[in-house]
Amino acid sequence: MTNLNVELIESNMSFSVSKNFGEFEWAGTNLRTVFSQTSNLFNLKFFMMLKDIMKFHSQAIEVSNYNDKLKFENNGNDSDERFVKMSVKEFLHANNYSEAFYEDYLLPMTASIWSTPAGALKDFPLLTLVKFMRNHQLLQIGNRPKWKTVNNGSQSYIDAILKTIRNVKINLSTSVYSIKRRKVIGEPVVLLKTKKEVLEFDHVIFAVHTDQALKILKEENDCSELEFEILNSIQYIKNKCTLHRDPRLMPKRKNCWASWNYLTERVSSGKKSDTSLCLTYWMNKLQKFIDKETYGDVFVTLNPLTQPKSELILGEWEYSHPLYNEKTVEAQEKLNSIQNNNFASFTGAWTNYGFHEDGLTSGLLAAVSLGAECPFEIALNGGYPTNRKVYPVPDWSRISFDTKIKEQGNAVSSFRINIHFNFKSYHGSTKNIQNREFHLQKSIVELEKPKAHLISMKKSRKPLQRDK
Ligand SMILES: Cc1cc2nc3c(=O)[nH]c(=O)nc-3n(C[C@H](O)[C@H](O)[C@H](O)COP(=O)(O)OP(=O)(O)OC[C@H]3O[C@@H](n4cnc5c(N)ncnc54)[C@H](O)[C@@H]3O)c2cc1C
Repeated sequence: MTNLNVELIESNMSFSVSKNFGEFEWAGTNLRTVFSQTSNLFNLKFFMMLKDIMKFHSQAIEVSNYNDKLKFENNGNDSDERFVKMSVKEFLHANNYSEAFYEDYLLPMTASIWSTPAGALKDFPLLTLVKFMRNHQLLQIGNRPKWKTVNNGSQSYIDAILKTIRNVKINLSTSVYSIKRRKVIGEPVVLLKTKKEVLEFDHVIFAVHTDQALKILKEENDCSELEFEILNSIQYIKNKCTLHRDPRLMPKRKNCWASWNYLTERVSSGKKSDTSLCLTYWMNKLQKFIDKETYGDVFVTLNPLTQPKSELILGEWEYSHPLYNEKTVEAQEKLNSIQNNNFASFTGAWTNYGFHEDGLTSGLLAAVSLGAECPFEIALNGGYPTNRKVYPVPDWSRISFDTKIKEQGNAVSSFRINIHFNFKSYHGSTKNIQNREFHLQKSIVELEKPKAHLISMKKSRKPLQRDK
């Protein structure tokens, strides 16, 4: 954001749990809100939960560090199978955690972070959870990180990025229908079909969910076995998302209102609403620029337990979130094997923990792996070891062309081309062993293959055939 001159402002990441419309409530904002329901002062189960939170914090750090040590300090070959295959539930059972800890703390927290219904969390991988919590400093009571948000929302950085992009045609709201990659030399490298046109590219970066990528690839039957195996392993959960002003979807006690509010009808006996997650984001607290005086209280609820009053609804959408289980982790571990292999790379939040930063990092890695230079160091995993890395430059792209178009009037007259031999890069710092600059006429781009790998730059704009 600093590079883009986009302003960040303080956010707030407080969290609350509200069961059965106020029957049981607590919020982690401070000690007063932890006991905002005074009866919790006399609730033994509640104290067991608090004790187990402390125990979990230290065990989770221990397990994360232990696993990293095994995995990354011995050429990445070692692992302790006990933890690699273990689900969160199995770990809690083996270590005698209380039911209250799971039901009233860990489950609400995990379900909210990953927008996943309680029922689907039984197989949640232990290491994914504990490492995420460690990396985001969620395993400490004090000294929590100061979270920031983008002033005026994501549109601010979208606008800033768009300002830096010139001479590139961007097709917005254009669904990609199919992709066909070259099988035989002489064929177009990547043919991309939309409803309106067929375009030719040198490489394709998928920045969609895996099921969407598969759908695009299957249209032309252009999916390798390994690509199918990896992409097909990631499952998704649909969540209904409502923007509204109805405070009935917040905790009953106002002093329990937090930025993230997990609402449930679960009770220790009787009805269990395992089927969906209900979470209300209090937007005024998360994003201060949505000020209360101007806008009133604004909420976003995923899967409302009760439908907000219709006159208080501002909008409704449906989103899909990746589901985390053993298969997801296995697919992520294999992902590098299909990157840049067949004129394609695969990016998105699903490649890691499922958040914005994961989507961004995967996009940066794809770009750097094709020769782009990143103006800042890419933070791969919050400073913790990871197998996410810049993947090998594709064979066809041993010579890379970093083309900057100089405009003269409307005509593209010359390109500045950097030729990188033995290209190697790590952590966003591209090392060009030999780097020469040429100012060449447009015709130079007609050089023989291997050709330019201009990620976002179209090689040919001529429509080849129209969709029926
Ligand atoms: C309510 C809510 C709150 C969230 N809060 C946070 C948060 O606080 N912090 C955080 O880090 N993350 C949060 N997330 C998660 C975050 O939004 C996602 O991790 C992120 O948007 C995923 O990015 P992505 O690029 O992988 O996928 P997406 O954002 O889903 O982008 C994929 C894009 O591909 C497009 N597409 C699909 N098929 C095609 C096709 N055939 N042709 C062309 N385009 C296609 C889709 O329209 C979509 O725009 C939240 C999500 C939700 C729903």
